[in-house]
Amino acid sequence: MKNFQDSVAVLKGVGAKRVESLQELGIVTIEDLVTYYPFRYEDIQEKQLNEIQDQEKVVLKGLVINEPVVSYYGFKKNRLNFRLLKEHAVINVTFFNQAFLKNKIQASEEVAVFGKWDAKRKALTGMKILGTKNNEDFEPIYHVNKKIKQATLVELIKVAFSEYYEEIYEDLPAELLSKYQLMHRPEAVYAMHFPKDNEQSALARRRLIFEEFFLFQMNMQRLKKQEQRIGKGTQILYDVERLKGFTRSLPFELTQAQKRVTNEICRDMRSKQMMHRLLQGDVGSGKTVVAAIALYAAMSAGYQGALMVPTEILAEQHLESLNQLFNPLEVRVALLTGSTKAKERRRILEELESGMLDVVVGTHALIQKDVNFHRLGLVITDEQHRFGVNQRKILREKGANPDVLFMTATPIPRTLAITAYGEMDVSVIDELPAGRIPIETRWIKTQQVDTALSWMKKEVQNGSQAYVICPLIEESESMDVKNATEIYEHLHQFFEPEHRVGLLHGKMPAQEKEAIMQKFKENYLQILVSTTVIEVGVNVPNATMMMIMDADRFGLAQLHQLRGRVGRGKKASYCLLVSNPKNELGKERMKIMTETTDGFKLSEKDLEMRGPGEFFGARQSGVPQFQLGNIVEDYQVLEVARECAEKIWQQPTWWQEPQYAGLKQKLAVGEAAEIYFD
Ligand code: ADP
Ligand code: MG
Repeated sequence: MKNFQDSVAVLKGVGAKRVESLQELGIVTIEDLVTYYPFRYEDIQEKQLNEIQDQEKVVLKGLVINEPVVSYYGFKKNRLNFRLLKEHAVINVTFFNQAFLKNKIQASEEVAVFGKWDAKRKALTGMKILGTKNNEDFEPIYHVNKKIKQATLVELIKVAFSEYYEEIYEDLPAELLSKYQLMHRPEAVYAMHFPKDNEQSALARRRLIFEEFFLFQMNMQRLKKQEQRIGKGTQILYDVERLKGFTRSLPFELTQAQKRVTNEICRDMRSKQMMHRLLQGDVGSGKTVVAAIALYAAMSAGYQGALMVPTEILAEQHLESLNQLFNPLEVRVALLTGSTKAKERRRILEELESGMLDVVVGTHALIQKDVNFHRLGLVITDEQHRFGVNQRKILREKGANPDVLFMTATPIPRTLAITAYGEMDVSVIDELPAGRIPIETRWIKTQQVDTALSWMKKEVQNGSQAYVICPLIEESESMDVKNATEIYEHLHQFFEPEHRVGLLHGKMPAQEKEAIMQKFKENYLQILVSTTVIEVGVNVPNATMMMIMDADRFGLAQLHQLRGRVGRGKKASYCLLVSNPKNELGKERMKIMTETTDGFKLSEKDLEMRGPGEFFGARQSGVPQFQLGNIVEDYQVLEVARECAEKIWQQPTWWQEPQYAGLKQKLAVGEAAEIYFD
């Protein structure tokens, strides 16, 4: 019985050696072979003469005017010449060292020649005679190695098709094929190698990209199902009326987007399944309030909540926000960080263990061994991409399958979210609270800094405050500090004694950092010179201006995060990007920043410019690699594929239906072999 998973060794002409060299290309089975797609085609479709670029490789068909003439020169060198009539033009064709072609080329016959075009001389340096009955307009070009030639690979693929074409089964359900007008699989796989024309090639590609994304999403959904089945989560039966009362007590009305995500989160918490949700929202979109509501819900059901953040400054700030939102008699909140004093720490640990405390906000200090909870029901991590998977897991294990919410202000493009985090549910706050005045961003050159500082002085004289951000010098932290110190001194001279300038950088002890932040919040300091330590979450609504030095050293997403520190109050805010970018990419980035304040648009641009691997950083690029699909260019396909996969998994025993037979078979081979459909 023939099987698509047969080894390539069954093919004629494939012996042990060839098996080995094919294996080096990743080809083991017949399926591997026929899905080893060319990375490009030699486009041998005919073009008009005036469309051909100088030195372009093309195919010219025409009438041979004269018998080819061969001339010999040098040692074993020869040249074959003839003239070709095409579109009323006479073209000189020359082949080097292929005298044997003389017999193939006859005067007054049509011939197709593949070669390199010389536009000036109207001449073609021939590389290959294609004959006249050639009907393959595209020649597939594969990645090969030294042991196997293009031509050999093409031959093997053809043989595989002739013997196994019948074995290529359809793995997409009929419903999807007709809904999205997708080409059938056997036809598509064949056309990837030997397309009739451009259109067919594009359709084949479209179908296979869909298939690739769809299968990926089917597996993601399966993971989710499995996790839900294993992880019997905590059912947090909060008091709906109390929760409504709390929401009404807030100093503002929630935005529609906040209401929507709050509902999504609350539904997860009430359900028996474990919540595993990512909450995305641009800076200032109001995630903290949503977190507060979730924590309140947990508390009202008798559970404790933990909120873990990456920096002490941010932890302090969250504590402050929560204390403002909660009634302190009702919800008992504590702060636990690396600089919590020993005595205080001991008290907090006791109260967590006895259940006296409802909510704890903190840094990595939360995941230390001796931190135990009475009844941990909800774990929230802010800026989740800054924590490793393990750190998040440790916190989660401090409860009995607590619900988990990840928050991020780095607007991960939806594309990436649904690939890299495909197994999580995603909630998005895609709306800012009303009445925000958009930040005006300007790009200035280094030479204009002093003019800009005069502007800053005016703002400060009007009672506002300002940030000046120094670039991070990756190679050396001490350079970083030196740089920041220099800028600080320059500003000090410029502003003092009228206004006070402060300096904040990563090398300072935590306590000193906090003291400086506090002084800035109280408007004791009017100008804060800082490295990127203030990137996440800092909230000083009175700050209306930010100047970012050497702005082209930052990524778009990071610039956006930094910029989000202003525009948090009622006054108009400005962001000045100081940079003299050396290349076009740098200029382009500055321009984009001045054109949009939409974090999602920016991160999509960032993704386009840097590629998914870089976007996430090598550390956490759990971004899968696809053979054909490109998650940036084909993101719409990816979205559709996800929706389809979700819908299918909503049917409890979908795999029993005949139209899914191929899909079931596909998902049950290879890496995913251990899935059981029951
Ligand atoms: P994020 O954490 O998403 O960056 P925050 O939660 O810090 O945003 O909210 C930014 C500011 O907007 C805070 O001062 C907060 O009180 C305020 N805010 C949040 N939601 C609303 C709302 N619906 N209407 C008005 N102001 C809001
Ligand atoms: Mg926040």
